[in-house]
Amino acid sequence: MSRVDTKLALELDVIRRQELFAGVDVDQLAPYLEKCVIRQFQKDDMLIEAGDANHCLYLIIAGRFRVHLPNDKQNPVIILGVGQSIGEISIIDHQPASAHVIADVEARVLVIEEDQLWQILEHSHAIAYNLLVVLAQRLRYGNTVMSKIKELLYEYEYNATVDSLTGLYNRRWLDDMFTRVMHRSHTNKHALSVLMIDIDYFKQFNDKYGHIAGDAALRIVSKNILQNLRPEDLVARYGGEEFFALLPGLDLSAAESVAERLREAISTTEIQTRDELTLPPLTISIGVATMQEQDQPDDLFLSADEALYRAKDLGRNRVSR
Ligand code: GH3
Ligand code: MG
Ligand code: MG
Repeated sequence: MSRVDTKLALELDVIRRQELFAGVDVDQLAPYLEKCVIRQFQKDDMLIEAGDANHCLYLIIAGRFRVHLPNDKQNPVIILGVGQSIGEISIIDHQPASAHVIADVEARVLVIEEDQLWQILEHSHAIAYNLLVVLAQRLRYGNTVMSKIKELLYEYEYNATVDSLTGLYNRRWLDDMFTRVMHRSHTNKHALSVLMIDIDYFKQFNDKYGHIAGDAALRIVSKNILQNLRPEDLVARYGGEEFFALLPGLDLSAAESVAERLREAISTTEIQTRDELTLPPLTISIGVATMQEQDQPDDLFLSADEALYRAKDLGRNRVSR
């Protein structure tokens, strides 16, 4: 005869299936379990709030709970269901709960108070062992979450600095890099030249051949720019059809030669679209500038921008200093 009261007896079948009680004769636990209460939760009720002290272990006997990190109420890190437990870490290390635990649907838990838990563990080594297994699973899951977060961080960082259309670095990356490269060039007293590159009449190209062809053209021009620069040069898509290149170690006339070679290459490269169309080459205008002793990034940038305007004014498809 079980000494479990009728209310608990009704739940006994589910209680038996708790991972904490695997391989354990639950009837033997009746004296302890009788002291436990069953709590009922409506959907979205909070069981544990991050930061609060927790003195209970909760065994889920109906429904499920979602676990959220404090700064993210949208995406649960894990969903716990019938048979699983909640609160086992904070009850052992006596630290405030690290996450919110919220009923995902209507739910019920068996609440084991801390002193009851220690008595149960003394009574049954099997339960102590099961608790260790649960803790090990939590640890392993934590590691999995951490490595996923690391992967995501890497992806976000990559997306934050790389332009998705052309694969070139973006303006944000450039702003950061420009300052660093310029600082290094000043310190080492090395030359630094820059190219401000803008596709000519690109609006017309889009209007005439469509945006998709325009995108293909941007990719081709980007690739061409990369092919005509040295590996140590840095290039970014600065705006819609504007690119900016840093050429460390090159003085003005060397940079002009690079720019001229690039201008020539672009003006002779036909644009192959994805639907196999061959469109006439585009042209680019390039403003070239070289770093002066007192220059800050903005100064050098402005010099290149002014040179680009001169190239445009002189009729486009040309290099100007
Ligand atoms: P200019 O010779 O004076 O530089 O003339 P432009 O037509 O090249 O310059 P404008 O600034 O008038 O137009 C730039 C065009 O670039 C307008 C816009 O539709 C196009 N553009 C910008 N970003 C993209 C893009 O990501 N894809 C496509 N297809 N077009 C773009
Ligand atoms: Mg432009
Ligand atoms: Mg343009």
